[in-house]
Amino acid sequence: MPEGDTIFRTARNLGRALVGRPVTAFRSTFPWLMRFNDDTPVAGQTVESVEARGKWLLIYFSGGGILTSHLLMNGRWHIYRRGERWQLARIHMRIVIENEEYQAVGFRVPVARMHTQQSLDRDLRVAVPENDLLRVEFNAVAALDRLTARGDESVADALLDQSTLAGVGNVFKSEICFVNGLNPFRTVESLTRDEAAATIASAQKLLRANVLEDSGDMIVTYRGQQRRTTRASNPSESLWVYGRAGEPCRRCGETIRRRIQGADARVTFWCPRCQPMPNGADVEGT
Ligand SMILES: [Zn+2]
Repeated sequence: MPEGDTIFRTARNLGRALVGRPVTAFRSTFPWLMRFNDDTPVAGQTVESVEARGKWLLIYFSGGGILTSHLLMNGRWHIYRRGERWQLARIHMRIVIENEEYQAVGFRVPVARMHTQQSLDRDLRVAVPENDLLRVEFNAVAALDRLTARGDESVADALLDQSTLAGVGNVFKSEICFVNGLNPFRTVESLTRDEAAATIASAQKLLRANVLEDSGDMIVTYRGQQRRTTRASNPSESLWVYGRAGEPCRRCGETIRRRIQGADARVTFWCPRCQPMPNGADVEGT
């Protein structure tokens, strides 16, 4: 699943290709988007801005429409120069926005809707900017209250809840717990307020480091001895624990564990020595 940093970079790239330019063509395989387009043609309008909110991508048109899309597991937006060959088959196309220079193509986008500002404000699934770790509007104090309110939920599951902190996906979840020395199976209520605040601060720091101009598409939380300049073939080479079950912890050498966690059965990785349970209990894992 794309994490907040991926959506942020996608929004930045789409913004560069689309913002300020009149749309010359708009197509979609979603009937409700085409119905909207029949009533209010998107072609002729200008893209005013593109923004990321958590895992949602928002494209603002000058006519007042706001196209929201969520990429879930497999969706992605590509940008092509006019006439350039698509990298994915046409059958996966869901939305195309064209201008004189570029084609933005949403492939396998599973969720998309055309909102007005009012309907967007009412849509509780789309994160508000104050909850988004990557936005300047992010309010860490309010986020701390939301996180600590999650009580007996596990830290890992609470981190994934997009209404608590928008932007953390499954890779960052394990990495954030490791960096803070927190066992991912601890309950939120077992954290001190300082621990919870530090968790939010490092979530923000790790996500932000992954949206810098020179950061690639790969999530990097661990850089080893020096900054990596070539693309690693194995994504877990740039991570502390995610994807590294059975391998030695980069800090202490203990074997990294893996376990399925939470109602959504998401995989979690951790080091039992660096991230002990407070009561010394052992959490089973492979
Ligand atoms: Zn360790």
